[in-house]
Amino acid sequence: MDKISHAGSDIISFKFARSEYLQQQQQDHLLDYKAGQYAIVDLGTKEDPEGPVRSFTLSSSPTEEGFIMISTRVRDTPFKKKLASLDVGSSVNITAPLGRFTLHEDHLKPAVLLSGGIGVTPFRSMIKYAIDTKIPLKITMFDANRNKENILFKDEFDKWAKLNENVQIVYTLSDTQADWNGEQGHINKKMITKYLTNDELDSSIFYICGPPGMLKAMEKLLQEDLGIPKERIRTEQFIGY
Ligand SMILES: Cc1cc2nc3c(=O)[nH]c(=O)nc-3n(C[C@H](O)[C@H](O)[C@H](O)COP(=O)(O)OP(=O)(O)OC[C@H]3O[C@@H](n4cnc5c(N)ncnc54)[C@H](O)[C@@H]3O)c2cc1C
Repeated sequence: MDKISHAGSDIISFKFARSEYLQQQQQDHLLDYKAGQYAIVDLGTKEDPEGPVRSFTLSSSPTEEGFIMISTRVRDTPFKKKLASLDVGSSVNITAPLGRFTLHEDHLKPAVLLSGGIGVTPFRSMIKYAIDTKIPLKITMFDANRNKENILFKDEFDKWAKLNENVQIVYTLSDTQADWNGEQGHINKKMITKYLTNDELDSSIFYICGPPGMLKAMEKLLQEDLGIPKERIRTEQFIGY
């Protein structure tokens, strides 16, 4: 296990050797997880009021063969404190990949990703996967954060968007910051219609990921303000935030 701190925020990414993960899952071929899936980590913290396990999306892409990665906010719970204090090189108990929050297969339909804070983890995996496998999928991500320091994976996203005309990233901040030129405030109808054409609005599959409050607000925005039918909306709720 290796740790990467994200400067200016309380977010840490943890990278685990994929070979070790494979061994744990007793598989003899490369782990076949799908971009967007999550796994459950057990640290044995029985003293934590919420118990010893937490779900974490694999923020790595299946195309990143050497490692799997999870990313989280480190706060004052026994579970998070133990996770943050793990020595580089330690092993943890982690389940096989779970969940159905994965990219659709009909690439004629663009993907629109709506992220709130740490909810960006499955989207890093999906975007990296789409780029590496060169699938002809138009992806627009709206990434909402409190401030610039909390934009997770920004350097990677900026690089990927610059090199791939299929990828468009729109950042928005809720705090007012002096040297910010991007969008301001919550993701709203005006912002979405500024970056998506009517055709895209009519055909895209929308993915929402974040804490429960954000998820509810985005579902309302899509369904009530933009008239997007439920069938074209997929959600992953980060229960626990
Ligand atoms: C399918 C699925 C996927 C998930 N994927 C992820 C993922 O990729 N990454 C991820 O992080 N989580 C993810 N989660 C949520 C994760 O499982 C935990 O529930 C979440 O990280 C909260 O952890 P925690 O209970 O230790 O509490 P935390 O929210 O980490 O800590 C709570 C404590 O922190 C303190 N606190 C609260 N707010 C603040 C604040 N603003 N500043 C400082 N201190 C504060 C309070 O004292 C509170 O008691 C996922 C959940 C699901 C269901």
